[in-house]
Amino acid sequence: MKNKLVIILLGPPGSGKGTQAKLLAKKFKLEYLGSGNILRQRRKKGNFTGKRLKEVMRRGELVPSFVISRLLTDKLEELKNRPRLNGFILDGWTRILVEAELIDESLDWYEWQKNVKIILINISDKESFDRLTKRKNCKDCGRFIPWIGEFKKLKRCDKCGGLLISRADDKPKAIKKRLEEFKEETKPVIDYYKKQGRLIKINGEQSIENVFKDILKTLKK
Ligand code: AMP
Repeated sequence: MKNKLVIILLGPPGSGKGTQAKLLAKKFKLEYLGSGNILRQRRKKGNFTGKRLKEVMRRGELVPSFVISRLLTDKLEELKNRPRLNGFILDGWTRILVEAELIDESLDWYEWQKNVKIILINISDKESFDRLTKRKNCKDCGRFIPWIGEFKKLKRCDKCGGLLISRADDKPKAIKKRLEEFKEETKPVIDYYKKQGRLIKINGEQSIENVFKDILKTLKK
């Protein structure tokens, strides 16, 4: 692919960004870069930043942009060494306006600005709260079980049979905090892309398949 496809996914917590990102990654053979996943890996390092990340993320607060920017730059630099790469998906990196601006700068820097799609998966606050309080995580394989459709009935992981648990930042207090952060910090990011005429809006309150279909339609345009 001459112009690498770069997809930036936005949406409130629980909107299904991660799920759609993985479907898109598979379909177009894109590298998936999820800020939450990379931070969860990073916090396993027992050093100062690892420990601080644990506290900040448990409270549902945002990690400072300089940490985010450093982690993303390291990843992008790695990807630059892969000339056969089709593109990549950025999930969760643009939670604050300054991060969106830094991402624009990095995409310019790495010459990846030609084929960027910015997709917002939209769901209401209530839907977001319900999905987060009820979704589960497999203790053994780490798989996320969303609180939608058939998945609601699962008692054990459908892939490995492991025990299903809640994520530490999926507790009501932390969820409220994350929803507030979204309203205060991420709404300006959405406006920033909207003003530039770059925002693609998708209704996230549908089945996983239909959200995916809608995304594919907009990517064809
Ligand atoms: P997620 O798995 O995407 O819901 O992210 C989990 C947590 O990681 C968030 O609640 C934040 O504490 C932190 N985080 C992830 N991405 C960012 C970001 N771009 N800026 C600041 N904090 C972030």
